[in-house]
Amino acid sequence: MTLFERDAETHFATYRRLPLEFVRGEGMELLTAEGERYLDMFSGVAVNALGYAHPSILRAIREQSERYVHLSNYYLQEPQILLAERLREATGCRRVFFANTGAETVEGALKIARRWGSGRGKTQILTLSNAFHGRTMGALSMMDRPGYREGFGPFLPNCQTVAHNDIEDLRGLVNDQTAAIMLEFVQGEGGIRPVSEEFVRALEELRRRFDFLLVADEIQSGIGRTGRFSAYEHYGVTPDLILVAKPLGGGLPLGAILAGERTAEVLQPGMHGTTFGGNPVACAAGAVVLKEVLDGGLMDNAASTGSYMKTRLEQLARVFPETIRQVRGLGLMLGMELATECAEIVTAMRDRRVLINCTEGTVLRFLPPLIVERRHVEATIEALRDVLALHAPPAGT
Ligand SMILES: *Cc1c(COP(=O)(O)O)cnc(C)c1O
Repeated sequence: MTLFERDAETHFATYRRLPLEFVRGEGMELLTAEGERYLDMFSGVAVNALGYAHPSILRAIREQSERYVHLSNYYLQEPQILLAERLREATGCRRVFFANTGAETVEGALKIARRWGSGRGKTQILTLSNAFHGRTMGALSMMDRPGYREGFGPFLPNCQTVAHNDIEDLRGLVNDQTAAIMLEFVQGEGGIRPVSEEFVRALEELRRRFDFLLVADEIQSGIGRTGRFSAYEHYGVTPDLILVAKPLGGGLPLGAILAGERTAEVLQPGMHGTTFGGNPVACAAGAVVLKEVLDGGLMDNAASTGSYMKTRLEQLARVFPETIRQVRGLGLMLGMELATECAEIVTAMRDRRVLINCTEGTVLRFLPPLIVERRHVEATIEALRDVLALHAPPAGT
């Protein structure tokens, strides 16, 4: 049996595995056993911000694992403290809670919102349509996409979704029982959709009037990817809770809830916890990620190389006006909406050894490591131009 068959035989059928096996990664590239090199413009869903085999990450993991790999949250752990201090500097948050995954930070935020609201007669949790907040029951309760929810109910009560960027719908749903609204300032799985300025202004006005918590799900958009540390910074707002995960642990599982003044004291001893949350090896790797993103220029690279790439994608959109509907996104979180299904384009790109992704059926998603350079962008654009030309002839031919 091939590895592919053995995998299918032994695992839950939850993942649609690609028939590809990599044996190692180096920087921007993944290598097969035959030594074929693939350019990774997807970063393992925005996780590998520093690419593969970054020497400082490897050193941090080695050094911390020689000290201890796990202690439990009964004991003080310096790697956690160092990373928490760095996250505070980066965001201005007051306190940090470390979890392991994105969905776990979403669950924690839900608990904080409900607990904060419980003494105030507020229980309603709002999210946006087409959002993605994870696969747990709490996260599913807040998501409206049938594909993720069907057959898993009943869900948590008092969770409602606001139509994306629909101010009237927002005004109709918010009331004095609203405890929190959670949103991705740029939706990731939902097709790289930034929330509009006007929507955020209306939201802020309602927040002043009704006093509810603003929760920024920065799990995909955070840690420098959009050219700012967090995507909400593009909108000039201050969330009460910020959720980070994917790239935080340098490839190891790590998530964090960052709480502002109003939420920092909500959870008291015994109210919440996790065995593995804030694993010291993951935190040591995380300190390297923050150092490279903030001091090593990667956040600035996300802004500059991201805007370069967006321009290049927009130029391509003018060459294929029939095929390409829109180019969207901020920094190195970019989407290209096609007029047709995009799965075939992703496969054709893979045949040209460039890894990208298709989300929402028609949106090509680009989430390259933050170490990406213009030459990688050029290689991607060149491959994409060839692939699109085979699928749809350019304008005027
Ligand atoms: C991936 C993701 C999550 C869930 O994170 P997991 O680590 O897979 O649980 C939540 N929100 C957003 C925006 C994400 O991209």
